[in-house]
Amino acid sequence: MLSTPLYDITPFSTLDYPDHLAAIFWFGGCNMRCDYCYNKDVVLGTGHIGTKEALAFLKQRIGLLDAVVLSGGEATLYNDITTFARQIKTLGFKIKLDTNGTACDIIQELLEQSLIDYIALDYKAPETKFTRITHHKTFQTFQKTLTLLIGSNLPFEVRTTLHTDLLDEYDINAIIEDLHVKGYNGIYYIQNFFDTHQTIGEMASPTKPFDRRKVCPLLHVKFRH
Ligand code: SF4
Repeated sequence: MLSTPLYDITPFSTLDYPDHLAAIFWFGGCNMRCDYCYNKDVVLGTGHIGTKEALAFLKQRIGLLDAVVLSGGEATLYNDITTFARQIKTLGFKIKLDTNGTACDIIQELLEQSLIDYIALDYKAPETKFTRITHHKTFQTFQKTLTLLIGSNLPFEVRTTLHTDLLDEYDINAIIEDLHVKGYNGIYYIQNFFDTHQTIGEMASPTKPFDRRKVCPLLHVKFRH
């Protein structure tokens, strides 16, 4: 078991967990290799900060922060995520999990033990493009996680990173229709890709336009920059 799962800690953020002051714990490593991923160092790197150090950091932030975001990389790859989440909750912090949804069993365990307060679930692409973009064949597991969350009482959001050379209006509408059919009634966030020149797939700026007027009105859709 990796005893130093964290690549980095962002001590303070007002943006990553809606209405909360949160620290971000960046878990090193990810099972996907999304072409547009700009966290290349985190995904390809390994952690070097231990959970003990992270918990000591949090103890000094009691009363100053109210939440922790488990991000990465992919936090659910950490074998002992359940214990770590319980230790964070014991200190009185809420937890938001950012996830690609490929560890359905772990997420179910976290839900059953009431260790998570909010989830941001990436819907990477419709099935036809999922593996091409993520380089990982886990669309069915992702779908299981999506169904699990829709059937739970946990507040969560679904989001897609939009690079128009990878996804077009037709793909976004396929995602919206799938979410609608499954009974998702939250906000669907579409995050525009921003060009860092350092993505895993060395993606350049999008060359194709995206016509928002073509987005299917079945869900409440918000665009983020
Ligand atoms: S964008 Fe893809 S590769 Fe990057 S951290 Fe998220 S799931 Fe992993």
